[in-house]
Amino acid sequence: MELGKIERLVGHFSGQEPGPTLIVMGGMHGNEPAGIFASRKILSLLQETQPFFRGDFYALAGNLGALEVGERFIDQDFNRCWTEDVVQALVEGKRVPTDSHEAHERYELFCMIEQIARQARGPIYFLDLHSTSSQSLPFGFILDFEPYGEDAHFCPPIENGQAAVALEVGRKMVDLIPVPTVTGLSAIHGTLLHYMTSRGFLSYVIEGGQHRANSTILNHEAGIFLSLFDCGCLTDEVSEKVDFYYNMLQRQTQRLPREFEIFYRHAVRDNSHFKMLPGYANFQEIDSGEEIANDHGDVICAPEACRIFLPLYQNQGDDGFFLVREAA
Ligand SMILES: [Zn+2]
Repeated sequence: MELGKIERLVGHFSGQEPGPTLIVMGGMHGNEPAGIFASRKILSLLQETQPFFRGDFYALAGNLGALEVGERFIDQDFNRCWTEDVVQALVEGKRVPTDSHEAHERYELFCMIEQIARQARGPIYFLDLHSTSSQSLPFGFILDFEPYGEDAHFCPPIENGQAAVALEVGRKMVDLIPVPTVTGLSAIHGTLLHYMTSRGFLSYVIEGGQHRANSTILNHEAGIFLSLFDCGCLTDEVSEKVDFYYNMLQRQTQRLPREFEIFYRHAVRDNSHFKMLPGYANFQEIDSGEEIANDHGDVICAPEACRIFLPLYQNQGDDGFFLVREAA
């Protein structure tokens, strides 16, 4: 499947009646186009069937330059550069560094998000679609802490404490979608999820599966459609389609626990010296002491019996692997 020409706004669909706004992001990483294919699919489904619809659905594309060349990023990871200082400067209208490809794209995306927020006719939900280099079942991410610390309330339209509310509703949304939820992202900084959550939007991530698998696109379609239904844009009129997508996800994930927490991240300083042992699937169970990777000639072993999470099988990125356990 070819992406063809990609613009920042992949498409939008609006109802006459006011209601929630759902912003769906695909391709924050340029080698993860599945979210964009899925957005296009759901947009044409809505256009063909014209169901009753409240509010607004916007499908956006992330790192346009990286998508064009099919790489994770050009100069810097577009999903790690939404750090507190940068976001604060953007919100206050100050100059931010534009010394990288991604800095330009970040400014463009920031402006588009603000424009959508100004036109919103109800609460704003945000769904960020990603995929993994390893084989994986679909799962969701939420932040379970205030993204930039409890004192950071620099986004003008956001009341004190609203990020906490956003966190709570983000969790509820993921709970309505039958995929395991992963928390404990504190080792990762500057994701778009951090920014959108701080902005008070009800935000969550869905990872649909492996980058190139067709099932990943289908899982993303399910994530978008169930989100449109759960947030209230779509009504019971589409319940058949809701059941289809719900059952499709449920069948894949029913053997997994509902919630995992990350307790370890193996950071990689030089990607070319890191090698995961082959064949690990995301969430695969591993034994205490099992050899799982090689970094600068050192053998890395599992410290305890647990599950491997996001093992790195691509030549860009600095998260070697994570370890997760079932949340208490
Ligand atoms: Zn990604």
